[in-house]
Amino acid sequence: ARRARLSATSGPGRTSDGHPVALLANVGSAEDHLDGAEGIGLFRTELRYLDRTEAPGFDEQVEAYTRVFRAMPGRKVVVRTLDAGADKPLPFLFADGEPNPALGVRGLRVARRHPEILRVQLDAIATAASAAGADVAVMAPMVATVAEAAGFVARCRAAGIAKAGVMVEIPAAALRARPILEVVDFISVGTNDLSQYTLAADRQCAELAELLDPWQPALLDLLAMCARAGAETGKPVGVCGEAAADPALAVVLAGLGIDSLSMSARAIPAVREALAARTFAECRAAAAAALAAGDAEGARAAVG
Ligand code: PEP
Ligand code: MG
Repeated sequence: ARRARLSATSGPGRTSDGHPVALLANVGSAEDHLDGAEGIGLFRTELRYLDRTEAPGFDEQVEAYTRVFRAMPGRKVVVRTLDAGADKPLPFLFADGEPNPALGVRGLRVARRHPEILRVQLDAIATAASAAGADVAVMAPMVATVAEAAGFVARCRAAGIAKAGVMVEIPAAALRARPILEVVDFISVGTNDLSQYTLAADRQCAELAELLDPWQPALLDLLAMCARAGAETGKPVGVCGEAAADPALAVVLAGLGIDSLSMSARAIPAVREALAARTFAECRAAAAAALAAGDAEGARAAVG
């Protein structure tokens, strides 16, 4: 009983019968709270680019990435390349304005216009990774197609980055999770944007919170599709949106077969406890019950 209690309050995420689910932190810098995290599942690199008139230089980036990697010796750190646009505007990249920024040239799409920005960032990540000793992986935001995923992996390989994946934040990518997984090393589902694009509801619009609810059946179906693609290809599938921080939903995600959950580190203890209180079979049953429900409220109630 003592061991079970210890594992519920610290250490790696796992169900009561030992099925592992890595509990990782979402961070923006080395100053962010990391206690209790097994690694970093989403390192948002936008911070360095905000309030600037041009992109940060190579040396500045190497220094910033090295500080984060040093905080996680031997642990996993997933760096997300620049995710600019829409809710993360950057004046030097978007001077023209766009009629629909959330559907515009944002995330990885910025590299079509400014390939040098991505190249410098990947070189800086590779340089920092080779010196710092963390287990570094890189992923691109806002990927819609297999071709974009393959192109990103090729750029990562050219920069000397061994582990390259993509975020699944666009329904097209979730629907094509299997062929995307065939060309990348892993995927990580960003449920904040995936909800926004699946329900066509602006994530910044509080009035539409009910549509943005990650328990929406359409979102659960897409998550299940991603998890299945992971099982079929033998490649890791993570979740790094806010949904991962909901302990009851974390149980469902574990039951779907999601390998890692990344969230604000402060949310990790409650998620760890929820997983440790259930067997993997109970998580699978919770996932099946949630998928069978007709609406978000029903899915929540079915898991209890
Ligand atoms: C997401 O979209 O779920 C995500 C993790 O990225 P961000 O919230 O930074 O867009
Ligand atoms: Mg996103």
